[in-house]
Amino acid sequence: MKNNPLENARQQLLDIAKILELDKKTIDRLLKIENLVSGEISVKLDNGKTKKFKAWRSQHNNAVGPYKGGIRFHEETTEEEVKALSMWMTWKTAIVGIPYGGGKGGVAVNPKTLSKSELQRLSRGYIRLIAKAIGSDKDIPAPDVNTNAEIMGWMLDEYEKIIGRKDPGALTGKPLELGGSRGRTEATGLGGSYVLDSFVKKLKKQKKAVSVAIQGFGNVGSYFAKFVHENGYKVVAVSDSKNTLYNEKGLDIRKAFDYKAKNDTFKGFVGGKLLPSEAVLGLNVDILVPAALENAVSEENVSKINAKNILEMANGPVTPKAEEILANKKILIVPDVLANTGGVAVSYFEWVQNLANYYWEKEEISAKLKKLMDSAFAAVWAEYERMSKTTKKATLRQAAYSLAVQKVVKAMQARGEL
Ligand code: GLU
Repeated sequence: MKNNPLENARQQLLDIAKILELDKKTIDRLLKIENLVSGEISVKLDNGKTKKFKAWRSQHNNAVGPYKGGIRFHEETTEEEVKALSMWMTWKTAIVGIPYGGGKGGVAVNPKTLSKSELQRLSRGYIRLIAKAIGSDKDIPAPDVNTNAEIMGWMLDEYEKIIGRKDPGALTGKPLELGGSRGRTEATGLGGSYVLDSFVKKLKKQKKAVSVAIQGFGNVGSYFAKFVHENGYKVVAVSDSKNTLYNEKGLDIRKAFDYKAKNDTFKGFVGGKLLPSEAVLGLNVDILVPAALENAVSEENVSKINAKNILEMANGPVTPKAEEILANKKILIVPDVLANTGGVAVSYFEWVQNLANYYWEKEEISAKLKKLMDSAFAAVWAEYERMSKTTKKATLRQAAYSLAVQKVVKAMQARGEL
């Protein structure tokens, strides 16, 4: 398979394992997916027919705490993709310092082809498939691509019916009415904007002189665009699967956000010109932000990249081969496992609130999120500087992985497992 995300995730781990001189036993243990639940969900369609959908929950590592990670609904989702995403979750939760391991779920479905009631039946069916493997002290799913608070609400309801009691901390990203946290919906974008601020400080640049192009305008890309625009950066381009909306002087993101929400397209928006969707990747900007899916920048299109730096808001958007080429061109990449951890960080806050049955104000959540993201960035940067002393080729991804992998290894050692 071309650009298999699981191969990429493994390669990133092997790369740092070599630098850290880990032994074979440890490496094999870290490469292992601890548990995989898979099956087919039969969904009764509105027309009376039944349709089956393949579904998975991958649990990579729980040395630090319960497995944690989203569930995606996407027609191209595969077992290998879900496994890769679960590995990335293990590193993410370790980097941001929250007491979880890594898990991820997925259903191979294009949710746009389903009615709302079909979508609800699919969501409940998914929970029936994985119910035994989850719980607030076991594995805690959350939203990801094409899933949201409403879907988490149906899933929690199904889960609590199965177990016959309340366990709101078994899923995060829920509606507020069911124990969701304030600030969770926009958390990944907000967290990424804090990381961008820290990064731009290191580059010693003024925000208004920093041009940003964002690929993807889903939950992550749209909120990220909104926050960085509000913070004074020059967002020159945003894209969705159909178009890139471009204005070299900077876009009014608030208007673009509202326009897209209302019309489901950038077509017809005054204040920017339309380019093909992929054009966003080739723009000459200070920061390119892939915020859509994995493998956006690969060997095939890496030569088109004209950005000075990349901040990964999607999971796995730059393949290892492309990364090597970019590193040779001195293009710094702020990795996904650091940049997009805001979502899971606020999921953690949600879970803490659920366990304590005590709910926080939004300001408290944003302040706590900023603290977590700032210290994660500072730790990764310090590790990057430390590693750069011994090799000129150190990357921010290696620095982030170095911290994460050592933390997980130490937890496994403390359990007497290694
Ligand atoms: N799906 C998000 C991610 O990839 C959030 C996961 C969570 O909140 O558990 O990080």
